[in-house]
Amino acid sequence: MKITCYGGVGQIGGNKVLLEDGLTRLFFDFGIPFGDRARFFEEYLNPRPGAGLLDVMEMGLLPPLRGIYRSDLVPAGRFWERVERSQHLRPHLRDLERLDGVLVSHAHVDHNGYLSFLDPGIPIYSSAMTGFIAKAMQDSGQTDFERESVYAVPRKESGGVLTTVTSSRSNPAPALQRPYYFPDLADLSAEALDFWRQTPAARPMDAVLPRQAEGIGELPVRFFPVDHSIFGSSACAVETSAGWVVYTGDLRFQGGTAALTRDFIREAARLRPRVLICEGTRLSPEGNAEALFGPSASSGHRRLRTAPFGRLRTAPVTEEQVRANALRAIGGASGLVVADFGPRNIERLRAFLEIARETGRQLVVLDKDAYLLGAMRLVDSGVPGVEEAPNLLVYQDLRATLALWQRDLRDRLASRIVGPSQVQAHLGEFILCFSFWDIKNLIDIDPGEGLYLYSSSEAYSEEQELDLWRLRNWLQHFGLTPRGLPQESTDERGRKVYRTPPGEEGYHASGHATGDEILAMVREINPKTVVPVHTEHPELFVEGLKGSGIEVRLPAYGEALEFG
Ligand SMILES: [Zn+2]
Repeated sequence: MKITCYGGVGQIGGNKVLLEDGLTRLFFDFGIPFGDRARFFEEYLNPRPGAGLLDVMEMGLLPPLRGIYRSDLVPAGRFWERVERSQHLRPHLRDLERLDGVLVSHAHVDHNGYLSFLDPGIPIYSSAMTGFIAKAMQDSGQTDFERESVYAVPRKESGGVLTTVTSSRSNPAPALQRPYYFPDLADLSAEALDFWRQTPAARPMDAVLPRQAEGIGELPVRFFPVDHSIFGSSACAVETSAGWVVYTGDLRFQGGTAALTRDFIREAARLRPRVLICEGTRLSPEGNAEALFGPSASSGHRRLRTAPFGRLRTAPVTEEQVRANALRAIGGASGLVVADFGPRNIERLRAFLEIARETGRQLVVLDKDAYLLGAMRLVDSGVPGVEEAPNLLVYQDLRATLALWQRDLRDRLASRIVGPSQVQAHLGEFILCFSFWDIKNLIDIDPGEGLYLYSSSEAYSEEQELDLWRLRNWLQHFGLTPRGLPQESTDERGRKVYRTPPGEEGYHASGHATGDEILAMVREINPKTVVPVHTEHPELFVEGLKGSGIEVRLPAYGEALEFG
């Protein structure tokens, strides 16, 4: 049995872990490596869609594995021969011929984004919630060839450029849906399956209904729901000839479903795993560092890295504390309240919905968030829906050109739509769920007074400094007081850092277990070997597990670790 890491090695995100055993070949996750991507690309410098696989492979974002990628994204002109000649790609070039599937832990794009490039026939295994979130995000996102995780929009070559095939009556050119396998398939309603088979665009879909996940290739598979900052997150395990291999995905103990993570640990320990492939986001020489997730993950192309901002040996902030702190801040606010958090984090959204109720306000989300909530509700009726929740409305951006799904949504939710003039007339009655990227809507509202509550990641890269500076300018211009927004300061060694001002902490809970919690978890699961991924400090596993008898094997990109 062999495990080869093609991502998540010494960095946070971009996990692509190949497992090979006998005739079976599978990946754990297939995400976008934001760290590597940011070394070459940024907001206005992106891989060229017309170049297909070329740019992402040449720049090291996609491993050179022949036989698993979309044939319609192979650029003109002897592409694989170029790869064979390339100094830096050749050492990692392999013919895989076949892949039995990809196990996807959750719907954050640093874990599932680059499914986009895989052959649309390759089976994807995930929880139903992860599949539905991914579909809603693809449906409502911009067309982006790095985000086709649920269905592939066909391309064809013309004059050396790959362009999307135009859909017309004579040539419908359907989107090709990927075959998803859910462990919890039985719970899906007919309405849910209807959503699954539709594209919300003019293009038809070659729909593939989800199937029941059992084994993958010749190997038994198990899924374990865990607590993380997005619903549907799972750890998983595969039984190989060398024993069980367990993969944590991303997880934490700070949320309302922390019991799931504890159940997973118990169950995983019972498997007596040969190998544990384990996340280590917050392992840092500085202590339990916070990692850049929140706004970075949703905006996509930003640099992700842990920011050293002092030792954090104190207990981690829980979602429950966030709720209590935000309630206090909003209860004392007059005028408009803007809450900046990722509404994909349904637990946080639910907390703000409760706060809205308790403070006599209405919570207003963007239409893409309403669409996502609708999709998630099809899987879990506990997710608040705009039709049902009395305090939940959808913001109408009057200046946007509407896509088909947006027009549908506005028809369906006509009575639940609120525009800028209503908000302006009753500023004290609303909490708007905007992030930095939606801040331009303030021009239509012109609030004059209010509160901007920052309830998102607490760590910053240099690239985000500029965004923070701009955000402050916007808030000042429109008379909003920031709260919880990080500002420049110096740490105990005199280095410049960005941190939440004293007295304004506790409006955000991390999506990741602390380093100490991770190490305790590994000891409890007690695998023979642990392989650290999704961490900038894999070496801290060696130090942290001294005396435990657990072997730590540090992965190197593209180098197979063998297990007997
Ligand atoms: Zn995640």
